[in-house]
Amino acid sequence: MKGICILGATGSIGVSTLDVVKRHADQYQVIALTANTNIDTLYAQCLEFKPHYAVVVNADKGAEFKAKIAGTELADMQVLIGAEALVEVATLDSVDSVMAAIVGAAGLLSALAAAQAGKTVLLANKESLVMSGDIFMQAIKDSGAVLLPIDSEHNAIFQCMPANYTAGHDAPTARRILLTASGGPFRVTPLAELSTVTPDQAVAHPKWDMGRKISVDSATMMNKGLELIEACLLFNMQPEQIQVVIHPQSIIHSMVDYIDGSVLAQMGNPDMRIPIAHAMAWPERFDSGVAPLDIFGVQHMDFEPADLQRFPCLRLAMEAISAGGIMPTVLNAANEIAVESFLNEQIRFTDIPVVIEQSMAQFSATPAKTLALILEADRQAREQAEQIIKTLEV
Ligand code: NAD
Ligand code: MG
Repeated sequence: MKGICILGATGSIGVSTLDVVKRHADQYQVIALTANTNIDTLYAQCLEFKPHYAVVVNADKGAEFKAKIAGTELADMQVLIGAEALVEVATLDSVDSVMAAIVGAAGLLSALAAAQAGKTVLLANKESLVMSGDIFMQAIKDSGAVLLPIDSEHNAIFQCMPANYTAGHDAPTARRILLTASGGPFRVTPLAELSTVTPDQAVAHPKWDMGRKISVDSATMMNKGLELIEACLLFNMQPEQIQVVIHPQSIIHSMVDYIDGSVLAQMGNPDMRIPIAHAMAWPERFDSGVAPLDIFGVQHMDFEPADLQRFPCLRLAMEAISAGGIMPTVLNAANEIAVESFLNEQIRFTDIPVVIEQSMAQFSATPAKTLALILEADRQAREQAEQIIKTLEV
């Protein structure tokens, strides 16, 4: 039996993870589940999976949750409140695998703690890797932790890498990664209409059902930018070795191009339970609950380059990785603030790259040598982005 801790259990990835856990209750035991504010979902999950620990980050919701379970069959469960508790449950001795599925920078410290503690880290939270880059990858190497990518593209690439490949190491025979993208909901929307699209339109992804933040990132293609940075770190590649390919059908989830001209692709229905089950069963395989791919239903597959005029966020991410140092952290922080402001209808969709570009212009790419420097850059970039948003508010 493996013990699993699911950070961000109530989100889209968390729910899909529990769906896979349910199918393999003989192999996985849920040790801890965490939520920020959604205590109703957490409560239902606790009733079903009986974890030893439940964490609620928000203090008011945590108190409410404690009152809710008093006198119920969950009364003996340990309830911890606050962000520090995320690190505590991610590093418990009884935990073998940690699903890092909190959204945004809020997931950094717990994902990093799992890496430092030598856990098997199932990494969905790409923002933490983008922010902490080399520090995160070094922590994995130093502790002997196993890092398995959950992001569908990176999981696909991992599956296409040479046998026995370990994340963060060289694969000299792999010369290029073809990183696929669906193109999101605005792939063909007339450019002039983009300034008036609403949050509901932006989160209505054509192929994937995801949380609101990553859905907006997919619409701006910042998601692909973050994934490009993620891929450089996970597969030890230079940005020039990664080609972004728009593939609207989302059947191929990415490809690896080898020196002999072979191109290996991983395909499947667009359902996150596939990469989750792959990582949970690794190096074996088990059922994910996803229906077999109907290859005749696919009919055809298209591939096109990404238009950087339409998707300036992708260009900004490329600039951030080239600059290096704290710049990916700044990019990520400014993006998180801009996306939140767009979702709150404070700025327009087309203001998102403006906020990020103007924020990045305020920083130089100083080395990101320590976690303290990274957290400080994150804080300052958020402040900058907030200031810029005040000048743009609609
Ligand atoms: P979501 O919004 O559905 O869920 C987010 C989870 O994080 C929730 O459980 C929430 O309680 C928790 N959370 C939010 N703010 C928090 C905070 N301040 N402190 C602690 N916990 C907090 O998001 P999601 O779509 O499940 O995405 C999670 C992560 O996985 C993101 O980094 C995303 O980029 C990545 N990812 C998601 C998908 C997908 O299909 N949803 C695919 C690839 C990668
Ligand atoms: Mg992805």
